[in-house]
Amino acid sequence: MKCPFCSENRDRVVDSRESRDGATIRRRRECVSCGRRFTSYEQIDDIPYMVVKHDGSREEFSRKKLLSGLLKACEKRPVATRSLEAIVDEAETMLHEREEREISTHDIGACVMEKLRELDQVAYVRFASVYRRFEDLDAFMDVVKSLLQPVAPAAARAAAARPAAAAVPSASPGPAGAAAKTAGAGKPPESP
Ligand SMILES: [Zn+2]
Repeated sequence: MKCPFCSENRDRVVDSRESRDGATIRRRRECVSCGRRFTSYEQIDDIPYMVVKHDGSREEFSRKKLLSGLLKACEKRPVATRSLEAIVDEAETMLHEREEREISTHDIGACVMEKLRELDQVAYVRFASVYRRFEDLDAFMDVVKSLLQPVAPAAARAAAARPAAAAVPSASPGPAGAAAKTAGAGKPPESP
C-alpha cells in the first residue's frame, strides 16, 4: 500500500483489528521506507451477484436456492449432497469470474445442467424441466434426446452403418452374402 507520507509502496502490517460488526478490518501499517505509520480500512466486497430471470427481472444469486433446486431434482436419487455442493461451487465461481456482476438464468442453468447430466440423468431431466420451463412436449423431448446423443458413440456408429449395410445386399445380393459367409467362416478356425 502506498505510503501517504513518502509515496513508497513498501509497508508492513503491525496490527489488524476487525470492527465490531466484522464488516471492516482496520490495519495499522508501517512504511518500510520512512518508518511512519498509517491506517488502512478493508471492507468486505458485498455487492451481490445478480441472476437475470426469463422475464428480465433480477434477483440476488443465492447458493442456498440453487442447492435446494438441485436437492429437489435429486430426490430419491443416488446422488451425494457433496456432489451437488460442488456443482453450486462451480456455478458460483463461474459467476465471480465474469466481468459483469450478473448472469442469465439460462446460462447458469446450462452450466448446472451440464454437470448434473454427468451425475444422474433422471435428476438432469427433472432439473431441466424447471430451468427450461418446458412449455410443450417438444421442449421436453429435446432435453431427453440430448441425453441420448453423447451416451453411446459406438451405438450411434452402428446405427449409421446399418442402413449402408442393408443397402448393399439389396443392390447386389450375391457378393454381399458371399462376403458375409467368408467373414463368418474366417472366425471359427481362430479358436482351436
Ligand atoms: Zn513512507
